[in-house]
Amino acid sequence: MRKPVVAGNWKMYKTVAEARHLVSEMVPGLQPIKGVEKVLCPPFTALLAVSALLEGTDIGIGAQNMYWESSGAFTGEVSPLMVAELCQYVILGHSERRVHFGETDSTVNKKVLTALGMGLKPIVCVGETLDENETGMTKEVVSRQIISGLADISLQVDDSKTVDLIIAYEPVWAIGTGRAATSAGANGVIADVIRPALGTLFGERIAQIVRVLYGGSVKADNAADFFSQPDIDGALVGGASLKVSEFIQITQSAAE
Ligand code: PEP
Repeated sequence: MRKPVVAGNWKMYKTVAEARHLVSEMVPGLQPIKGVEKVLCPPFTALLAVSALLEGTDIGIGAQNMYWESSGAFTGEVSPLMVAELCQYVILGHSERRVHFGETDSTVNKKVLTALGMGLKPIVCVGETLDENETGMTKEVVSRQIISGLADISLQVDDSKTVDLIIAYEPVWAIGTGRAATSAGANGVIADVIRPALGTLFGERIAQIVRVLYGGSVKADNAADFFSQPDIDGALVGGASLKVSEFIQITQSAAE
């Protein structure tokens, strides 16, 4: 049994004051939900405030990105040491980073290696564009993102039979569009492409242990359908994670 994960990617929304307000409204509804790993990923500037508000809860916190060097003359970057001081998780290789900021499988790989070395749980995003989907390239693209993005990584299975690595399958055409993948389609990519690629890298046992989330226009009214699929272990939620009752309902669906 893989414990589900529901992570909210706040993207570039919420000032510190707004983040405090959102978390204080979210926590009373999220805290009683058991059996799900709950994660909030605010912008860097709000991490300190949000982590203070989450203290004493079972809700985790993640960054949306980080650099791979620990320190140095890298103006504008945020180091893994700085992230690990405040967070347990970090989203890496989100398609918005690949599209707008030139991230590649190779930079994702450096970040994943560093994050795991720091004891962070990376949520590594993979997924094909609309054009790649329509030209039948999904398998090739997603396999490559896994095999190259996770090259040279070794994973330890801990006492609770989990590993620190989490994958999010996020078809780019489904992100922020309101056009979610079908649950069966997403499950198929995870079962037929992502887990086999993980098996090639880490062996079959670990391929079955890694939690693989779906992301792309997940809402309260379609979440249960995704979570009913055998290979979908939760969701990476963008837009709906900024809405208190939507995010609580999505998390509740994962618990059920
Ligand atoms: C995301 O940002 O990872 C995402 C899946 O966004 P949305 O839920 O808004 O499609």
